Amino acid sequence: MKLKITFSAILAVLLLVFCTALGIPKLAVSEIPELEKLSKDPRLENPSGLSKLKFTIFKTGEKKASSAFIFEGGPLFHRKQIYHSVVFVEHPKGTFLFDSGLGTQIQEQYKDHRFYVKPMVAYQNPNPLVSQLKANGIDSDKIGDIVLSHLHWDHAGGVEDFPKARIWSTEEGRRHLQEFGVQKGYLPKQLDSENIIWKNLGFSSKPYENYSKSLDWFGDGSVVFVPMEGHTAGDIGMFLNLPSGKRFFFTGDITWAKEGFEIPSHRTRLLRSIVDRDQELVGKEIYRVHSLLKVYPNLEVIPAHDGEVIDRLGLYPHWTE
Ligand SMILES: [Zn+2]
Repeated sequence: MKLKITFSAILAVLLLVFCTALGIPKLAVSEIPELEKLSKDPRLENPSGLSKLKFTIFKTGEKKASSAFIFEGGPLFHRKQIYHSVVFVEHPKGTFLFDSGLGTQIQEQYKDHRFYVKPMVAYQNPNPLVSQLKANGIDSDKIGDIVLSHLHWDHAGGVEDFPKARIWSTEEGRRHLQEFGVQKGYLPKQLDSENIIWKNLGFSSKPYENYSKSLDWFGDGSVVFVPMEGHTAGDIGMFLNLPSGKRFFFTGDITWAKEGFEIPSHRTRLLRSIVDRDQELVGKEIYRVHSLLKVYPNLEVIPAHDGEVIDRLGLYPHWTE
């Protein structure tokens, strides 16, 4: 374990030196074309009329990494807490998950990562969701649907632990997985069961905030999915709008840290060249959320791996409602 940490630290420093030596620029905001105008949902003006919805977050694994490794401009000696999270949402019309984290077979599956990727993606304290639910007396069969922000190994790992759930992803996402497999951060064995009930999540052309497409999951404005481009293919973000008036935006892996949206700032160049399909598109998505935060400073943006943001919100058994 000690050897792993030392190797990761050396790798992080080498990456930083490499990126600095290349004179890597920060995200060039001025070069980004004007983004869509805001389309506000009138139902949010009277949030008490929204459906009773609550959510909690589970941590299925974790690691620590230098902030400089996580976002450009991050301090080298600040250790950022990385979580592999699952959002557990209860709505009167159904219980669903957003992402599935690390699953029960992760130790075996992890062996398929390419050798030079392994030190970067090493995790600690794996704790699959299905085991946590059992330990807490929650019936996992009540989860009817799992919506995946994207199909990377640390988001799709729990899928086969929920054989009765419908698994939602975009068609582009599944095509990208089939085309690139382990080359692009997927572990195909996590999703190779013939029993998986795949569903295609398709967006309507209805704009939502500064997104040109959206999907109102229950048709009541409480759960709205939007397309986020560039990290893999057909990535999905999720807005949760609560009757209390609180609003949350789960942004998958567009950045690994909220600071990425605030600054705005990418992952380091070498890392994004490894993990992002299209860096320019990711830059636009980062800027889109950055712009949204200016309009809605109280919008709680939650990158899937940002342990600090998730800790502030509170892990299970804390519920947000
Ligand atoms: Zn990812």
